[in-house]
Amino acid sequence: MNRLDLAGRVAIVTGGARGIGLAVARRMVVSGASVSIWDLDPAAAEESRAALAADGTVTAEVLDLTDEMAVADAARRTAAAHGKIDILVNNAGITGGNMPSWEIPAEQWRRVIDVNLNAPFIVASAVVPHLLANGWGRIVNVASVAGKEGNPNAAHYSASKAGLIGYTKSLAKELAQRNVLVNCVTPAAAKTDIFRQMTEAHINFMLSKIPMGRFVEVEEIAALICWLATPDCSFSTGAVFDVSGGRATY
Ligand code: NAD
Repeated sequence: MNRLDLAGRVAIVTGGARGIGLAVARRMVVSGASVSIWDLDPAAAEESRAALAADGTVTAEVLDLTDEMAVADAARRTAAAHGKIDILVNNAGITGGNMPSWEIPAEQWRRVIDVNLNAPFIVASAVVPHLLANGWGRIVNVASVAGKEGNPNAAHYSASKAGLIGYTKSLAKELAQRNVLVNCVTPAAAKTDIFRQMTEAHINFMLSKIPMGRFVEVEEIAALICWLATPDCSFSTGAVFDVSGGRATY
């Protein structure tokens, strides 16, 4: 694994306790960044923090990202512990299960929109003032190819990720002249714990749609996310970066 230019940067990675978020946190730490993992799961957050702390400065915040007050507190604590905030990766997400859209209980639909769309807005709103104070910042939102293509039996998930893509574009334009770049990535399926929230039939459907004929590795997604958080990414903002093995057609 090569080092990216992240020396001295401070990054928040939501959902960093496992899966794609943990791969992002690991790549950032070995590239010289200090990282704060923000996650709902105290045991996994602590385990991942301790594992990564061998290579750099890593803290963890345990919170539900849909809770505005908890997010504001976590942003304050992170800035105090690390001295500043440079990078936000809005990665945490849930699927909400698989079923035809008309059978999704309204409460389940709302929770998916809350975690996948409202929480990135709440977190970014708390973090942007810190990025503006720095005069430099990068935000990477983890959307999904489902947000571009629309997966059957995952309407709540697809709609939340499409919303996140739209939010990315608006926020990017608001910050375009402030040295804060905002982009999103749209991965295809990666074998993580999130698979437990999906039916076997849906997982097979997703694999069948990937021209490369395999699942994406979390390290492959992390490589793209981390590059988007470096100064090398300097003239792309409001953009949607595909990492779908050829599935996305636009
Ligand atoms: P994962 O389930 O392995 O990990 C998600 C992490 O987010 C968990 O540690 C969980 O505790 C945390 N989290 C969930 N809700 C939270 C909340 N309300 N507050 C705080 N933390 C919360 O998932 P993953 O596969 O690593 O996915 C990460 C992101 O990538 C998600 O946004 C997902 O939608 C997206 N994505 C995943 C895939 C895939 O196939 N794995 C494909 C495309 C996009």
